[in-house]
Amino acid sequence: MARIALVTGGMGGLGEAVCIKLAALGYKVVTTYSPGNTKAKDWLATMEKQGFQFHAFPCDVSDYNSAQECVATITKELGPIDVLVNNAGITRDMTFKKMDKTNWDAVIRTNLDSVFNMTKPVCDAMTERGWGRIINISSVNGQKGAFGQTNYSAAKAGMHGFTKALALEVARKGVTVNTISPGYIGTKMVMAIPQEVLDSKIIPQIPMARLGKPEEVAGLVAYLSSDEAAFVTGANIAINGGQHMY
Ligand code: NDP
Repeated sequence: MARIALVTGGMGGLGEAVCIKLAALGYKVVTTYSPGNTKAKDWLATMEKQGFQFHAFPCDVSDYNSAQECVATITKELGPIDVLVNNAGITRDMTFKKMDKTNWDAVIRTNLDSVFNMTKPVCDAMTERGWGRIINISSVNGQKGAFGQTNYSAAKAGMHGFTKALALEVARKGVTVNTISPGYIGTKMVMAIPQEVLDSKIIPQIPMARLGKPEEVAGLVAYLSSDEAAFVTGANIAINGGQHMY
């Protein structure tokens, strides 16, 4: 029977590539979209035209109750989740001087609280079944910090602390927990940065002199989801074109 993979924010730039990759490998792929997202049906129709039968459920990943309800519905309608990719995320960039509590809270809730909210309802079932994969999509900016991103860097660094602690707790139960820290990937989140900033400030920091491709991150997610990756846990795998090494 096909394993079930749940990708939060699967309709976004990176998430879509992850959904496509996992579907191509034979997983039954489920994604979430924000309850207010009016384009979800269009996205599903577009994907169907490309031959992908994705399942999609509304969920505000920053809201604990919404996450519990969403996972309960998925489990009831499709079955237990084998692979969870915590991918949904937002940025609200501004210097710390200008940052108010609203923009701090929004980023922490969506990028970090979401990892607790989504992992909580799937993890016990994974350990009971003796197999599971939890993959948290963090960022290079959680590893090295970034100007104007105290909120985002804190949330993304926090994700990896969560990864390491949970990896220890479930290591003997066939469940792995890992973080992927992408550098700048050419999705709409990054393409929203003005081209002159990309050309003058961002690309020059990347030894490969280009943005990453969503498919490159999706390939790493596919590996970490696989049986072959059973001995990889608590890792934070950088995929950043050489921008940051440690
Ligand atoms: P996008 O903006 O393209 O996609 C983000 C996704 O998150 C959307 O599908 C969005 O769904 C979903 N989302 C946001 N808020 C919520 C919420 N409250 N509840 C449910 N879903 C939500 O971003 P990317 O694809 O570029 O980024 C994906 C992940 O990768 C993020 O965590 C990001 O931080 C990380 N990342 C991205 C990098 C890049 O260069 N692009 C680099 C490093 C990390 P909806 O539209 O329905 O709201």
